[in-house]
Amino acid sequence: MPQLTYWSRPRNWPRLLRSSWRSSLQFRTVTISVAFSGLAILVVGVYMSVSIGNDLFQSRLSQVLLDSNRATSAAQSLFDASDATDRVQVQNLLSSARTSISTTSSSRLVAVLRVPGQESSTVAPQDSSTFGQSTGVIGADLRTQVQGNNGEQFWQSVTLTGETATVPGIVVGSQITVPVAGRYELYIAYSLQDAEATLLFVQQTLGVAGVALVLLIGAVTWIVVRFVVTPLRVAAETSQKLASGDLMVRIPEKGEDVIATLARSFNGMADSLQSQIRELADLSEVQQRFVSDVSHELRTPLTTIRLAGDVLYDQRASFPPATGRTAELLHTQVERFELLLSDLLEISRYDAGSVELESEPTNLVYLAEDAIDSLRSLAESKGSDLRLVAPGGYLNADVDPRRIRRVLHNLIGNAIEHGEGKPVMVSVDSDAKAVALAVRDYGLGMSQAEVAHVFDRFWRADPSRQRTIGGTGLGLAISREDASVHNGWLQVWSRPGEGSCFRLTLPRTAQGLLESSPLPLPPADATDQLGESGHVPVLGGGPHA
Ligand code: ADP
Repeated sequence: MPQLTYWSRPRNWPRLLRSSWRSSLQFRTVTISVAFSGLAILVVGVYMSVSIGNDLFQSRLSQVLLDSNRATSAAQSLFDASDATDRVQVQNLLSSARTSISTTSSSRLVAVLRVPGQESSTVAPQDSSTFGQSTGVIGADLRTQVQGNNGEQFWQSVTLTGETATVPGIVVGSQITVPVAGRYELYIAYSLQDAEATLLFVQQTLGVAGVALVLLIGAVTWIVVRFVVTPLRVAAETSQKLASGDLMVRIPEKGEDVIATLARSFNGMADSLQSQIRELADLSEVQQRFVSDVSHELRTPLTTIRLAGDVLYDQRASFPPATGRTAELLHTQVERFELLLSDLLEISRYDAGSVELESEPTNLVYLAEDAIDSLRSLAESKGSDLRLVAPGGYLNADVDPRRIRRVLHNLIGNAIEHGEGKPVMVSVDSDAKAVALAVRDYGLGMSQAEVAHVFDRFWRADPSRQRTIGGTGLGLAISREDASVHNGWLQVWSRPGEGSCFRLTLPRTAQGLLESSPLPLPPADATDQLGESGHVPVLGGGPHA
């Protein structure tokens, strides 16, 4: 219905026609067929109308010339046979000649005019005409031609003024000789009304037939194109569904034609795609289970190693220096191993989809303060100043505090690690729908290519770099899963030499959906933001499911 209301407004038509032209193959094909066949029919129609009009005129003209010739000859024979001598006799003779002309020629419009320049005669009758309102139509050219040539016929197309309307006509002129009175011009006018009516009828018939033909062509094209387009539309919709992950969809296979072949090959392709994806899924499940099982299995021996290592570490002062150093090395490597194992277990839990959120109303500012406090000594050792900016607002959100604390710890830890001793700013802000936390550092930064991989598992920009904390390469991958499980976003902006900014945005309620973030990204102090650089901002990790 809303579509109908939209169509009912004429000012929307150009836009609707444009969008139909762009989006509908059927509309385009029907429009092109109707336009071209309409043009062809118009050309043929105009040509037919012109030739029929010409033909009608020519045949009427020959008929008229014959007719007037016959009438003129009859009148002239009358004059030739007469022996009239006085004015009254000549007058009577002329009247009977006029009557004879009228009956012979089937035209009531007859004019008899004395050829000028002859000697004046007392017996010569006056000019007479039954042309009525049309007297003026006899042109000077025609008169000159008639006056100059005895025995020849001349004609002219004219417009005759009838009682109700003007009609096209032909005036035929010739000379006659009246005994005693001298030479006279005889004009007979014929109406072309009948021919015109016939032409109008033919034109109307052609017009109606042309419109009907165009409509028929449009309808036939519409039906034919529909036959072709409908299966194509089904194929397009099915491939769209397939592309969006619905691997069960197939195109119905009917008949033996090319469309059926298309459907069969498409379905074959979908079958093999589905089986390959299933194989890959099975394989990846096996791998995930393997990682999870191995991590679990390693936990117990690692705990034992850890306990033994701790004992050795506590007694390192009593060992010779080289052994003491080995005990220290063992201690740090076992710590790293434990960390890696717990990260692996965590990520395999996400892969298995067995993550349960323990959400509770949580103040993000407190969480940020906690994380900053726990990392303060690391920051001091690196010479970085940790600052918290929290303008206030609705800072409580329904989140799992353990996971969000882990994300903050990871982001702030990374910022200190890669911040090159420069300040690290942690900003927290919120609006009615979302809470956001951004960690900004002014350190090394990353290139666009590096940003594209920053959330990949085990990816590190420079694996050889000395790490103080963590360093498994799984931190951001887990953080992203943590954000995702909250329906949140974890995004990054980074520029080499300008530092990085990681922004975590979370909906304030568990069911909330994010539309925007309360904090800007790129950050407010980025050169992209300030418009000082023409570079495209390097952003990564946009909204994800
Ligand atoms: P880890 O920190 O354990 O190496 P992460 O997943 O946390 O793993 O980070 C992956 C990589 O992303 C890091 O090794 C580093 O190269 C890059 N990285 C993360 N945070 C920053 C940052 N703030 N500045 C520059 N590079 C960073």
